[in-house]
Parts: sequence; C-alpha cells; structure tokens
Amino acid sequence: MATELVLLGTAGAPLPVAGRAGICTALVFDGRVFVIDCGRGAPSAYADAGLDFSRLEAVFLTHLHVDHVGDLPGMLLYGWGVRVRDGRDLAPVRVYGPSRPKALPSGDATFHRQTTIDPELPDPGTADLIGHILAGYAYHLNVMPLDATMPDAGALVRAHEIDVPLPAVVFDDGNVRVSAVAVTHGRAVPALAYRFDTPDGSVAFSGDTTVNEDLISLAQGADILVHQVADLDYLKRHGINDADLARLAALHTDVTQVGGVAERARVRELILSHYLPAHPGAISEAEWARRAGRGFSGTTTAGRDGLRRTLTRS
Ligand SMILES: [Zn+2]
Repeated sequence: MATELVLLGTAGAPLPVAGRAGICTALVFDGRVFVIDCGRGAPSAYADAGLDFSRLEAVFLTHLHVDHVGDLPGMLLYGWGVRVRDGRDLAPVRVYGPSRPKALPSGDATFHRQTTIDPELPDPGTADLIGHILAGYAYHLNVMPLDATMPDAGALVRAHEIDVPLPAVVFDDGNVRVSAVAVTHGRAVPALAYRFDTPDGSVAFSGDTTVNEDLISLAQGADILVHQVADLDYLKRHGINDADLARLAALHTDVTQVGGVAERARVRELILSHYLPAHPGAISEAEWARRAGRGFSGTTTAGRDGLRRTLTRS
C-alpha cells in the first residue's frame, strides 16, 4: 500500500487556457480515490491519469467558485455507469464542501450587481449544488435507465456539508483522516483548506487563500503542501488596474509569500498549483519555483498537470 498524489489540473481562475487544465488534484490510498476540487477538464484528466471512476470515493470542494466546481457534474455523471460491482450499486460518491454561508456576502455596491440569480437562494451550499446538479440532469438520470442498465441514480452521490466551527476532522475511517480549516478568499465564505493523513504520510491543500494562520497550523509538519500561487506583479505589469489588483490581493497568496508559508508550516515539499496567471507560457516552471521557494528551506516544485508523488511508509 502507498499513497499517491496526482495533480490533474493546475490552472487558477475560470477562463480556460490552452495547455493547462483547471484546478483538480487526486489523492489515492490503497486504490481508493479522493479528489480535491473539480476544475475544467477534471473528468478527462482523471481518465488520462489512469484513475478508475468505480474507485472514486469522495470529492472535497475547497469553495464554490466555478474554477473549482465547474466539472463536478461530469465527474459524477460520466462515471455513473461503472458504479456497480457484482450486480450491486457502489456506495454513493461523497461530496464534501462548504455549507451555505451564515450571512449574505457583502459587496453589492462594489460590484453594481444588475441581476441576482435565484434570489430565493442566492448563496447555495454544497448540498444545494448537488441537488441542483441532479435536478438539472434529471432527464439523463431518469430517462437513460429506460434504455440502458444503469445503477440506481439515487445512489450516485451524497453531499456532506462542512460547517463552521473549524478546524475539524471531516472524514476519518481509521486509514484516511481529512481535516479542514476555513481560509481567507475574499467574499467566498466559507472557503476551506484540507489536510489528508494516511499511514504513509500527509498532504495539505491550501485551496484559494491569502496568507492564513489556520492553514499554516493545519499544514504543520506535512510531507507535502500543495499551495495555490499568484504573481500579482505580473498581472500589474500586464494591465490590471489598482482596484482589481487590491481585490486579487484579498483572494490569493502571492508568489513572494508562499515560501514563507511553507517554511512556517515546516513541510517537506511545497508543490505549486492553481497558477495565476494560468497560461503555461506566461511564466516558466523554473521561474515559478525559484521565486516561490525563497525563504523556504525544503523542496519547492512547480506543479504541472500529471505530476505524481508517492508517499510510502518508512
Ligand atoms: Zn480558484
């Protein structure tokens, strides 16, 4: 047995870019697959990595921005047909993620919102999202079984909302333990970071966040920290105005800060992901790693789609 980390997609921000898939990462323990976020291209990247949809056990969403959840429907629905073994439906895919926020996000005046989508429930949580995905695809889920043998659609997925207060252990089966903290990502509240502990080691995932003390505590001593990275100076040089830059600074950890986070968390390896700018040609991997690694005494690796790391028991 071993634990394997697979970066399936490493792009940040919603706009698709050529050559890099949206943020999505897998952690595989003993053949069981746990996926963190489902950005653009997640189901294809999952298949390309040789992962089996019948072994998808759970998805952990860091927050509900579309670059993190846009391909969640595909992740659930494309693999539906194989979620059966020996004539019995497999256990539902468990989807963990933020609950509804306790209060409406502020900022209407800032954003001059013209139209509120779904004013009855303008800030849905993970269970609402899953419910809406199933409702939106009801035609497929109800009609396809008339023409093909399919597992019970009602056994496809279960939502598990993560409520504050945090930190908390949100999953623990004796082998895999997942802990969560709330991080700081602008008005995306709650936004979460996760840490996975298995008998082979530990991997922490920052989600999208500014420098956050709770994340540093969560990641303390982990073998690997997969951390988002942004180069705000690059964005400034390429025409982002000061107001937008200030908003981005309230959303993300800059490349000049991430090494300090890894150092204070005393992790063994920092793996960069969720790049902003996302385009692979914008900044070379060597440049990302060189700048992000400043102030960090461990190993800094510029993540790329398909990168793997194996943790083994010592
Ligand atoms: Zn993001």
